Amino acid sequence: MNVPNHDILIVGGGGAGLRAAIAAVELDPNLSVGLVSKVYPMRSHTVSAEGGSAAVIRDEDDSFDSHAFDTIKGSDFLADQDAVEIFVKEARDELIQLEHWGCPWSRDDDGRISVRAFGGMSVKRTLYAADKTGFHMLHALFQTSLKYDRIHRYDEWFGTRLLLDDNGAACGVAAINVRSGAMQAVPAKAVIICTGGGGRIFPFTTNAAIKTGDGMSMAYRAGCPLKDMEFVQYHPTGLPGTGILMTEASRGEGGYLINNKGDRYLSEYLPDKMELGPRDMVSRAFVHEERTGRVFSGPYGTYVHLDLRHLGEQKIDERIPFVRELTKNYVGIDPVYEPVPVRPVVHYMMGGIDTDITTATPIPGLYAAGETACVTINGANRLGSNSLSELLVFGARAGRYAADYAAEVNSPSSDSLEKMAADEWQRIEQAFFKNEGRERIADIRSDLQKTMEQGAGIYREQESLAATCAELPKLKERYARVEVDDSSSVFNTELTAALELGSLLDVAETVAHSALLRRESRGSHSRMDYQERDDENFLCHSLAYRTDGEPRIEYQDVVITRWQPQERTY
Ligand SMILES: Cc1cc2nc3c(=O)[nH]c(=O)nc-3n(C[C@H](O)[C@H](O)[C@H](O)COP(=O)(O)OP(=O)(O)OC[C@H]3O[C@@H](n4cnc5c(N)ncnc54)[C@H](O)[C@@H]3O)c2cc1C
Repeated sequence: MNVPNHDILIVGGGGAGLRAAIAAVELDPNLSVGLVSKVYPMRSHTVSAEGGSAAVIRDEDDSFDSHAFDTIKGSDFLADQDAVEIFVKEARDELIQLEHWGCPWSRDDDGRISVRAFGGMSVKRTLYAADKTGFHMLHALFQTSLKYDRIHRYDEWFGTRLLLDDNGAACGVAAINVRSGAMQAVPAKAVIICTGGGGRIFPFTTNAAIKTGDGMSMAYRAGCPLKDMEFVQYHPTGLPGTGILMTEASRGEGGYLINNKGDRYLSEYLPDKMELGPRDMVSRAFVHEERTGRVFSGPYGTYVHLDLRHLGEQKIDERIPFVRELTKNYVGIDPVYEPVPVRPVVHYMMGGIDTDITTATPIPGLYAAGETACVTINGANRLGSNSLSELLVFGARAGRYAADYAAEVNSPSSDSLEKMAADEWQRIEQAFFKNEGRERIADIRSDLQKTMEQGAGIYREQESLAATCAELPKLKERYARVEVDDSSSVFNTELTAALELGSLLDVAETVAHSALLRRESRGSHSRMDYQERDDENFLCHSLAYRTDGEPRIEYQDVVITRWQPQERTY
């Protein structure tokens, strides 16, 4: 296939990637934009978002400052406040724009867009489309993107490597066309990475199987640091066994969390906020209940009850119909009549590719947005419903800033890119097809997930983190002995699984090492051996750089504009 030379190449067709593509072509209708996605765009993880997207749309009882402060306090004061101030202002315009593109926001009887309560938000400011918000948002973005023939899609192309020119600037991506097996270079003046998170480094997660941190790994291998990787969010309510999410909207609409004594136990931990506390604290409360034996026990481990019965059938069907559908289908429980078993589950990565507020990374011509990026508005703990708004705000910014950059530079030479793609294919052939080893992908992946959970789970400490850090190089050694048996070129999913495992190993080492060196507790990062937040030494972002050995960790100051750190209580 003849691949044109694009102005901008976007890797990732989820919410952030599609928003970036639309912003770029709207800015300059002559731009050529390539959009590479390893799955058909509508299958991106954004589609599964349920609860909603936050923005200030009710001026009478809300304000930008209030949304900013809630976000910064939720982040345990690690968010960059300049980024948060931009975010809260632009989020509103983005969500209204999305309605104009066809997103059917739920409405009140008086015709205004509805807002619901969400954890850590001091007022109701989460817009929603029942509990299928991500589906409707992604659909509105996808169908809008179809209007522009300047957006050239490469569906089911798997990006394996970021290509850099002689000056070290991004100039395209090497990608495998999964339908034919051909490796090709997709050249561009600027590259935007929008590949989502990497929750699959853990065994029990709400994240789709495709969330393997590929873009983070691509940037990391090209020399870009990954920022704040120690901060991994647990969501308090996943179904035991599968990890399927029971959206926070179920608590926003009034659901209770109940222990085996029949008590709403959060009264002991978050008396003012109760079920609407932030995710890190509600998840830790579960662990305390577990330690005191006040949880239920089942075939998939311990759990508590999410009780929705008092909401009544009508409200459940109107506001959270998907919760009912999921529980009926996956655990045979109808929440109208029975409580639902839930436990904390890995959900989101606050960290990611280091960017500034223009979404630019330290590599010239490389931009990043969405869950794969760390700009950072989420700091040590993201508030629910900020992520969908973030991918719109910073996706749009990425499209515009990358377009500005592309206007100033020349196109890369296609010949030299073809050579780089040929080298990349040789690397892959050598690594997986001409390999004498007998290691299995699934074995290494499950050992990786096990050690991450043991060392870097909800609670962490020196000894367990050090053990995980010591285990990871051994897994990498084993990875070097993986052989891919399937030699077919069409839809070789064994090969893509092997490549994804490489990404998971990269992402995991940055999480474990950043966590080992952060000797304090902040937000989602809870150290048993350093239980207090330590602003004197750790009011800073971590930056993990790839080396031949373990990652090198450096630190960067947090940007504070108007809100001085204070104790975080709810
Ligand atoms: C179950 C669930 C519910 C959620 N609910 C909410 C909610 O209610 N509110 C909220 O704010 N947040 C929610 N979140 C979080 C939020 O949905 C995500 O953070 C966000 O959608 C990520 O969007 P994204 O565009 O960054 O990435 P994604 O939507 O994950 O898209 C990533 C894209 O990158 C592509 N890609 C990845 N690797 C490669 C590669 N190697 N080559 C080519 N393409 C690649 C994929 O094909 C895909 O198109 C939820 C998350 C989950 C898992």
